[in-house]
Amino acid sequence: MVTIRSGQKQFTEDEVSRLTGICLDHLRSWAQSKHVGSLIRAAEAASAEAGKWLFSDSELMIVNVLCPRCEH
Ligand SMILES: [Zn+2]
Repeated sequence: MVTIRSGQKQFTEDEVSRLTGICLDHLRSWAQSKHVGSLIRAAEAASAEAGKWLFSDSELMIVNVLCPRCEH
């Protein structure tokens, strides 16, 4: 079960990865294929060439329920 701070409405891919136990590679490819989350590009995501994923609190729950856990 995922526990989140009440009131938090947006989650970075790093937070979602940590909360759900899904690694970043799988989280990104899953989000892309399911059109869940928002890919933030360019200046706001200077640390990642391809951009960073952001998820709302409800999307975090969708990831938690629907995204298969990593097996590696
Ligand atoms: Zn993985």
